[in-house]
Amino acid sequence: MSDIFSAQKRSEIMSNISGKETKPEILVRKFLFANGFRFRKNDKRFPGTPDIVLPKYKTVIFIHGCFWHGHENCKKAKLPATRIEFWEEKISKNILRDSSNYNELKKLGWNVLIIWECDINNKAKREITFSKLLVTLKSQI
Ligand SMILES: [Zn+2]
Repeated sequence: MSDIFSAQKRSEIMSNISGKETKPEILVRKFLFANGFRFRKNDKRFPGTPDIVLPKYKTVIFIHGCFWHGHENCKKAKLPATRIEFWEEKISKNILRDSSNYNELKKLGWNVLIIWECDINNKAKREITFSKLLVTLKSQI
C-alpha cells in the first residue's frame, strides 16, 4: 500500500516539526497583531512552549497541525497506511503530552486556546475562526 501523502505533502508535514515558524502560525499572529493584540511567541517558560502568549488576556494559544497533534475526526489527521503502529504510537504520545501541558497551564491560571490548521486553511474558515477568537479574547478581560 502506498503512503496516503504525496512526497510534497509529506515534506510539508515534516517541516512542521522542525520548530520553525509555520504558515498557520504566521496567519494567526498577523491577524492578532493587526487587531491590536500584543503577544509573545514560542515562550519556553510555559509548558509546551505555546505559539502565542497574551499576558494581558491570561491566554495562551497553540496552533496545531492536525496530523501531529491527532485532531479528532479530522481528515488531515488520518494516519499513513504504512508503518501505522509507528505513527499511532508517535501521535498518541503527542496527544498525551499536549493534554498534560494544557493541564499545567490551566493550573497556573492560564486560558488555553487551540487553533487547528484545518480551521484556518481557507479564507472562509479563517474568518469564522478568527472572529470566534476575537470574541473569546475580549471575554477574558
Ligand atoms: Zn483538523
